[in-house]
Amino acid sequence: MSATEYSLDLRDIRFVLFEQLKVDEALKNVPKYADFDRDLYETMLESAADIARNVLAPINKVGDREGCKFDGKGNVTTPPGFKEAYKTLAEAGLVAAGMSPEHGGVGLPHAIDVAMHEMLTGSNTAFSIYPGLSRAAANLLASHYTPEWLRDIVVPRLVGGQWGGTMCLTEAGAGSAVGDNRTRAERTEVEGLYLLTGEKIFISGGDNDMTENICHLVLARAPDAPAGTRGISIFLVPKFNFDETGTLGERNDIYVVGIEHKMGINGSATCSVALGANGPCKGWRLGKEGQGMEIMFHMMNEARIGVGIQAVSTASSSWLNALAYSQDRVQGSSIESMRESDPPRVTINQHPDVRRMLMTMKVQVETMRSLVYSVANRLDRAEHGAEDERDYLLGLVELMTPIVKSHGSDVGFDVCCMAVQVYGGYGYTGEYPVEQNLRDSKINSIYEGTNGIQAMDLLGRKMRKGNGALFMSWLNECNLELEAAKATKRLDDEVSALERARDQLGQTAMYLGGLGMQGNLKGAMLQSSPFLTLFGTVVLGLHAIWQGRIALEALDAGGVSAADQKFYRGKVLNAKFYAKNILPKATALAKTIQAGDESCLEPGLFEA
Ligand SMILES: Cc1cc2nc3c(=O)[nH]c(=O)nc-3n(C[C@H](O)[C@H](O)[C@H](O)COP(=O)(O)OP(=O)(O)OC[C@H]3O[C@@H](n4cnc5c(N)ncnc54)[C@H](O)[C@@H]3O)c2cc1C
Repeated sequence: MSATEYSLDLRDIRFVLFEQLKVDEALKNVPKYADFDRDLYETMLESAADIARNVLAPINKVGDREGCKFDGKGNVTTPPGFKEAYKTLAEAGLVAAGMSPEHGGVGLPHAIDVAMHEMLTGSNTAFSIYPGLSRAAANLLASHYTPEWLRDIVVPRLVGGQWGGTMCLTEAGAGSAVGDNRTRAERTEVEGLYLLTGEKIFISGGDNDMTENICHLVLARAPDAPAGTRGISIFLVPKFNFDETGTLGERNDIYVVGIEHKMGINGSATCSVALGANGPCKGWRLGKEGQGMEIMFHMMNEARIGVGIQAVSTASSSWLNALAYSQDRVQGSSIESMRESDPPRVTINQHPDVRRMLMTMKVQVETMRSLVYSVANRLDRAEHGAEDERDYLLGLVELMTPIVKSHGSDVGFDVCCMAVQVYGGYGYTGEYPVEQNLRDSKINSIYEGTNGIQAMDLLGRKMRKGNGALFMSWLNECNLELEAAKATKRLDDEVSALERARDQLGQTAMYLGGLGMQGNLKGAMLQSSPFLTLFGTVVLGLHAIWQGRIALEALDAGGVSAADQKFYRGKVLNAKFYAKNILPKATALAKTIQAGDESCLEPGLFEA
């Protein structure tokens, strides 16, 4: 494998989609998908794989090395090849293929869309942020909050790739605390039209040379709005104003004033943006005043799942590259022949410690993929199910979103890190892709709400919602899968280990709930990140068992090719490895949390 080749695992992607989730069969009676079948899904997957390998991967390294350029006059130039690649992506209909045909998309199920997204992202993470934000903006605008005329002009252009989208929340004094947002929006005589002033920072795609217009979705507050998140509204602020036919007019006064020099995702322009500094900056309000956070949550939730996909995709590429390298790199001799005078040299994949790393990466990537795709699949099922089933499924999606985002990004980063370790010194150099992947993947734990904020959301809000109703739904799913796995009679140890971990998770949740009820909120929140990791560790263990069961059933059915036997055996070994090597961390976390140590909270310890 060459140093820059992108590696993707279509076999595993197909396994999750068509053998585990059975996306094609599950949706075939849904009218919306009446014309879709496995062949069409395969064609779409192949087309994304083709663009990933042949269009985006070749410009990944140059994007990292050259980054974006800012001319000091508000204009950003993306790295060589990005503009052409965006055009290719748009012509293939892949900017937002999941959007419905009435909005210019193909209307693919979320699960297929996510799989395509994984390939496009894994081949060039920095590039994928531009279409990712356009897609999220289109989805938000297609919701019922938007004035119709605005939606009809903007959404097809975002989906078609002529225009781009951004999300503008962060300000110098308002990062995690979005409610401290100070950008102002003055009403005008035209209903719904405002003039904005302020400055946003860290805005991905704040300007680019790939699309003819950019629609910024900006959080700001009217002058008399209440403090905090209740006073925040959301506005569509175009780079170029446009009329009711969509024809572009004069430049709106929203300009990039600087770009960041970053650790990774260098091809993605991270911009400081000034609004209304030198002239009128027009913004159209979406929804009502004060509804800004509620509406923006549409985009943020999509973006959080998007971060999970990003985490899987980079980790997957790192793991596959490390595997290929380990099959090629000759170093040392096998442990059995070490005492011989001139033992034969072996490839490093023969060394037990390297195999441990390979297995850890494999199982983490494959279970994360399973989790992310299954969340997308629940969204598909929710859209077309009966009302009570819909609430149940959406509740599960809500509960899993911080786990997908945060546990996914932590585990994804660890996998990228381990891949560097497998390469040894070469992994630390820019010669191989794992070094860039590691840098690119760090952002996942920071943006779209830091992992710390996600953990507080999980523990403080989602675990408590409906007196633990979401958690009970997850327990129900967990138990159903464990029963199914028991029926194979070959995963007994793994099921028992998962049952223990599930119970420890439940006890820990009760313990933390108890701290909350005693009024010790600090003590409870101190444990929110370990709790998220504990929950995520159990969830991925469940996915390892789920996949192991499907693999055993496939082997039992017979008629399996040699390549598939190896693949399915790998899934069964995943379940075994996870239960013995990774799941015990859940026990350790449960004990650590319940030990209730609060030493770091002692007043004075960290105060200046
Ligand atoms: C490359 C890049 C791209 C970005 N793209 C966008 C974008 O497109 N649009 C956009 O709006 N923003 C974007 N951001 C901003 C990003 O979302 C913020 O950086 C992030 O929300 C954290 O805010 P902050 O950097 O101000 O950190 P802070 O909020 O200052 O947080 C610093 C640390 O304190 C912790 N912390 C803060 N408050 C609490 C609390 N109450 N309880 C516990 N811990 C807390 C955090 O978890 C973190 O560890 C981007 C950032 C980067 C680096």
